[in-house]
Amino acid sequence: MTFDDGYRDNYDRVFPLLRRYGVPATIFVTTGWLRPHDDGPGLGMSWREVREMAAVGIRFGAHTVTHPSLPALSLREAEWEIRESKRLLEEELGTECTVFAYPFGHEDCQLRQLVEAAGFRWAVTTREGAPRPSDNPLLLRRTYVCAADLLYADFAVKLAGWHEWRGPLWRLSRHPRAVYW
Ligand SMILES: [Zn+2]
Repeated sequence: MTFDDGYRDNYDRVFPLLRRYGVPATIFVTTGWLRPHDDGPGLGMSWREVREMAAVGIRFGAHTVTHPSLPALSLREAEWEIRESKRLLEEELGTECTVFAYPFGHEDCQLRQLVEAAGFRWAVTTREGAPRPSDNPLLLRRTYVCAADLLYADFAVKLAGWHEWRGPLWRLSRHPRAVYW
């Protein structure tokens, strides 16, 4: 499972469940939103919480520093967002950061090249669907799960992979989304 942005509830609510059920997970953090100290203000997790989760096997990926729509930036600014978030995570965690998530799923050919040149091996998008071995590793699809999902009609169907047969119109009707990523 993947989680974007690195909000505090990833630690308070999601982390205990991931541990209890042994679910492998990657959290894509917006590094500029993480709090330097546990008691600091802000919506993001603290770096101590990130380190604690990483120590027991939660993977962390980069999601830029300030969560911009990357295509709207100059290439130089976009490159900084991509590289600096990677550098910070590696400095804090002491391990190589190899996965990236495009904020809002916004990307293009030049940005994919920047992500690859920065040293990322994988990047995830907001394109719906299960990843396939033939996919471009810098354009991996995901299945969007949200609070409005019904347990059996949506969530169980997605886990089974059946939602891919329902077609794009059904998905759009179930996910009038775009603000979360
Ligand atoms: Zn995001």
